[in-house]
Amino acid sequence: MVQVHAQGLRKEFGSLVAVEEFDLTIDEGEFVTLVGPSGCGKTTTLRMFAGLETATAGRLLFGDRDVTDLPPQERDVALLFQDIALYPHMSVRDNMAYGLKIAGYAKPDRYERVEETADLLQITDLLDNRPADLSGGQQQRVALGRSMVRDPALFLFDEPMSDLDAKLKRDLRPLFEEVTKEIGCPTLYVTHDQEEAMTMSDRIVVMDDGRIAQVGGPEELYDDPDSEFVGTFIGQPTMQTFQGRVVEERDGLAVEVGEHRWPVSTRNGLAEYTDRPIRVGVRPQDISVTEDTSGGLAGEHVLDEPLGDRTNSFFDTPEGRVTVVTPKGFRGEGRAYGLRPSSSELRLFDPDSGLRIR
Ligand code: ATP
Repeated sequence: MVQVHAQGLRKEFGSLVAVEEFDLTIDEGEFVTLVGPSGCGKTTTLRMFAGLETATAGRLLFGDRDVTDLPPQERDVALLFQDIALYPHMSVRDNMAYGLKIAGYAKPDRYERVEETADLLQITDLLDNRPADLSGGQQQRVALGRSMVRDPALFLFDEPMSDLDAKLKRDLRPLFEEVTKEIGCPTLYVTHDQEEAMTMSDRIVVMDDGRIAQVGGPEELYDDPDSEFVGTFIGQPTMQTFQGRVVEERDGLAVEVGEHRWPVSTRNGLAEYTDRPIRVGVRPQDISVTEDTSGGLAGEHVLDEPLGDRTNSFFDTPEGRVTVVTPKGFRGEGRAYGLRPSSSELRLFDPDSGLRIR
C-alpha cells in the first residue's frame, strides 16, 4: 500500500481545458471524494488516475512509482463504474474471480480470494447464483467484490451507486467505507451527490470548472467554506445567499440586507468593504423564525416539508425565497414571520471573486 500523488494534472480536449492544476495526495486507507457540478472535470480526473485518459501535463505517482505514462493494466488500479456489467452467463463466484483468472492466478488461489472477499461483503450465500437472480443492491456488492479481489494500489469509483434507490445507497455507503478501510489502499470516489460525499469521505475535493475549489474534511467544508461556490455546494438544504452591504455602526461593523442590519464579528478583511456590496451567506439551520417581524427579514410563510426529525419551511421575503430548517412539528400559518440569522454564523463573500471575507 502506498500514497498516491497527483502533481499539476491537466487535461485538454482540443481547445477545451477540462482539468487544470490538479494537485492531490491520497494517503493509504484514505477515502477521498471528488464532487462538483456536471462538467467540472470529475470523471476526466478519475480517468487520468486510471490511465484511461492521457494527461496533457502533470505527473501521477503511486508511491515512488511514476505511472503517468503507463497503460491502465500496468497501474494496478481497481475500477468500479456506474455500469455494473456483470457477465450474465457466469456465477457470482466466477464473475468475481474473472480478473484474477486474467491476471494468471491459479484456480484454488482465485477461489480462496473470492471467498474472503465475499465474506467481507456478506455475499457468501450468493456465490453460486447468476447475476439475473440478484437484486440491484446484491449486484452492486458483487461488482464491488469483483473490483476489489486483487489488493489494488488504488481504488477508483465513478458514481457507482447513481442507479440505485436512496435507501439502498444509504445501506451500501458504510460498506464502501468499511471495505476500502479493511483493504487499506487509497480510494478516489467520484459523485455529484454532496450527501454521499459528506457521509463517506475522509476528505472531499470540490471541483469547479476544471479546478480544485477546496479540499477538506466534510465538517471543515461545511463550517468553513473558502468561497460562495463551496458554501452553496456543500450542505442540505442549500446555504441561503443575499445581496448585502457593509455598514459602520457605533459599536462596530454590520451587514445590511434589505432593511435589516445584523452585527458581524470583526473580521480582518471586512473593514475595506465598508459601504460596498458583499454577498451574505447563512445556512437554513442557522436562521430562527419568530412571531415578531421587526427584528429580521419579514417572510411570508409558504410551505412546510416535514422530514420526521425536523421540517424544511419556506418563506417568501423581499430578498427572495428563503428556506429555514425548523423544529419537528413546526407548521407555519401562511402569514408573515421574522427570519433572524444567527450573526455568528453569517458567511461573507466578495461579490466579484466569490471568495470568503475572513
Ligand atoms: P458529470 O458529472 O456530468 O459526469 P464531470 O464533472 O465528470 O461531469 P467530465 O466528464 O470530466 O465532467 O467533463 C469535463 C469537461 O470535459 C466537460 O466540458 C466535457 O464536455 C469535456 N469532455 C469530457 N470528455 C471529453 C472528450 N472525450 N472529448 C471532449 N470533451 C470532453
